[in-house]
Amino acid sequence: MRAVTAAPSSEFEFELLVCQWVEREWPPGGERDADRAVLVARQLGTKRRRWDTIAIEADRAALRRRANFGFQHLDGDLLHVIQNAPAGWAWYRDALPDPGYSWRYVREAIHEADDRGILDVRRDGNRIEIRRKWVYPDWVDRIVAIENKPDLDASAARALRPQLERDVALALADEAWVATTATGERVEPAILEDISVEAGVLVVDPGERSASVAWHPRSLDVDAPGTRIEDRADDADSEYVQSAGTFEYVDPERKRELRLRIAERAYERGWRSFIDSMRPDCRHFELRDAEGQLLPHCAAKGCTQTSAECSGSCSEYEPEPPAWRQRGWPIEGGPGKRLRQLLAERRRRHRPGL
Ligand code: SF4
Repeated sequence: MRAVTAAPSSEFEFELLVCQWVEREWPPGGERDADRAVLVARQLGTKRRRWDTIAIEADRAALRRRANFGFQHLDGDLLHVIQNAPAGWAWYRDALPDPGYSWRYVREAIHEADDRGILDVRRDGNRIEIRRKWVYPDWVDRIVAIENKPDLDASAARALRPQLERDVALALADEAWVATTATGERVEPAILEDISVEAGVLVVDPGERSASVAWHPRSLDVDAPGTRIEDRADDADSEYVQSAGTFEYVDPERKRELRLRIAERAYERGWRSFIDSMRPDCRHFELRDAEGQLLPHCAAKGCTQTSAECSGSCSEYEPEPPAWRQRGWPIEGGPGKRLRQLLAERRRRHRPGL
């Protein structure tokens, strides 16, 4: 593996650089508390909003206890069972609160939790009884959402503004940030652009692989009801526009659920999951070392390829020659499979207790 030092050639590469920096340095401008851990993931969010980079600030001791439940995420159904499972054996319908949906899905979640070894399950006649193995910990402290815009010019800022306004109104994340490329000017032009003042601006120096704060964000009130902006009536100033904007309130309990689901998915995926949507089984696929982090590189194209490029339809795709796979193949797989394992191992290192 060779080292890379060049500036990012695409938004994707910029995004990986931001993820790498956040994982290593967050919070910006301060020391990371030894009791805290930061998990980073990319391209995560809700059905309606996906953020480029997400940082989950977590309590390190609680994160260790979270590891009891394995590296896979717990979805909403599993969380309902695991968070409410009793300390002693009980019929599941006595023990769990009414889910508000069919009990059939609860039973499926119980069987899945049993298969994963994270819940005690037994039968008493026709009845399924459950008992918790561990208390599910309260491991998520803060969620930070970052939008990556390497070129934050006036038109990019205009496009970004409504998204940031939605983020601020809903306040699902504790902070919203925009990451952009540093220009080196005394006042970074990004902070003069027309974006929400509540959002922070992080300027990234790709050459140095470092970042600094150009504008501090305002903390958002994640415990208060949020407002989901359904229709902004963007041109409301226009005399031709008749419609008003429409909104929906999201209560704090729903926000807590959504935050935990996002955090759970971030726990499983991390940011190195980029390899899952690429072709590491191509003979040209490499991982290159960028200051201790492994980033994808295409030897045929001589660049950091995007996941859209690195697919079976790539004109330069060539499968690994079978000779590369001789030792251990087909049980262990070829170099592509080993690269996947290498990244999974790195991800695991950032999950204390796994
Ligand atoms: S040649 Fe295409 S498929 Fe192979 S590594 Fe490069 S981008 Fe990916």
